[in-house]
Amino acid sequence: MAIEFSAAVKRIPVYPAAGAYALPEDVALLASNESPEPPLEPVVAAVAAILTGVNRYPDPTNAKLRGALSDRYDVPVSRIAIGNGSCDILLAAGEALLEPGAELVYAWPAFSVYPHLAAATGATDIRVPLNDAQEHDLDAMLAEITAATRLVLVCNPNNPTSTAIPLDDIARFLDAVPKHVCVILDEAYCEYNTLDDPDASIDLLSKHPNLVLLRTFSKVYGLCGLRVGYALCGSDTFVTAVNQVRQPFFCNAAAQAAAVESLRHGDAVAARVERAVVARIELEDGLNDLGIAPAASQANFAWFDLPVPDGQDTTEFEREIVTGLTEQGILVRAGGALGRPGALRVTYGTPQQNQRFLAGLSSLLS
Ligand SMILES: *Cc1c(COP(=O)(O)O)cnc(C)c1O
Repeated sequence: MAIEFSAAVKRIPVYPAAGAYALPEDVALLASNESPEPPLEPVVAAVAAILTGVNRYPDPTNAKLRGALSDRYDVPVSRIAIGNGSCDILLAAGEALLEPGAELVYAWPAFSVYPHLAAATGATDIRVPLNDAQEHDLDAMLAEITAATRLVLVCNPNNPTSTAIPLDDIARFLDAVPKHVCVILDEAYCEYNTLDDPDASIDLLSKHPNLVLLRTFSKVYGLCGLRVGYALCGSDTFVTAVNQVRQPFFCNAAAQAAAVESLRHGDAVAARVERAVVARIELEDGLNDLGIAPAASQANFAWFDLPVPDGQDTTEFEREIVTGLTEQGILVRAGGALGRPGALRVTYGTPQQNQRFLAGLSSLLS
């Protein structure tokens, strides 16, 4: 007899992990929206310094990190949640807010973790298609909110499509959402967004106690290997609820120390953003030269439809290109697994990696 698992396990999709983590040669890892730059020197030193004390459990209140975030963003510590990556907070929010009969609204394609929330809790999942510019259609999302809605997810900039919507539109959306509905604004890429200052959305918290800004140290801070994210919240009840449903020590000591140290180096972060914006222009120009028009990116990656030759199957062509790039040691993410067959998502790498990707794609298309 085999082990019998729960209905939730049968529903939860398996995360589409990027392949080839064990490839030995010089691989361009452009599949997971990571930073191509190593963590900052003082951050590495802060992690090294904490290691001699790991016979003790980490601080379950994350006091230093929450204090540092409170100082940085002027949000009270009681309204700051920490997580083992921001996905930890996202999944905890699902557990804290959702149950059978409750509804969850989000755009699609968006972040591949979102479908887990309804699957894990038995709630009803309502996916609202993006508009033709591959942006959230906030009016259409608003139209899906009912008395049963508990949670709305807005990913801005959106993964995998890279597009962002102006904060003014989000502010109008929030004015129209009933206050008992929690809205999580997933801002994993907000530092790369040139449409609005990343600090501007914080002003919305004082007006909307149902708002949660979900952020991470995984992307621009380059700490995804340690797992630490945070949420700036409109009310402290969200923080209490997500802490209730998780184990007490959800954020390890090294991650907490690295995050605290990272917040002391805003200039280095700004320089990284500048390099990402240069990469954005290089990739956009290079793709345009190949006759490809990527979506208007405000993130650290490009998203575009492959030019599928007449008569060829879209999924088959996508596989051919992704396989061809992999054989050249260039790992990107296939759109089919992310909700749009025939599209590719390509993380900005180092200037050399970006050129290598463009040359590789060019050779496969010609
Ligand atoms: C990468 C990413 C995250 C961050 O996940 P972590 O758990 O913090 O590493 C969250 N949301 C989106 C949309 C992402 O792309």
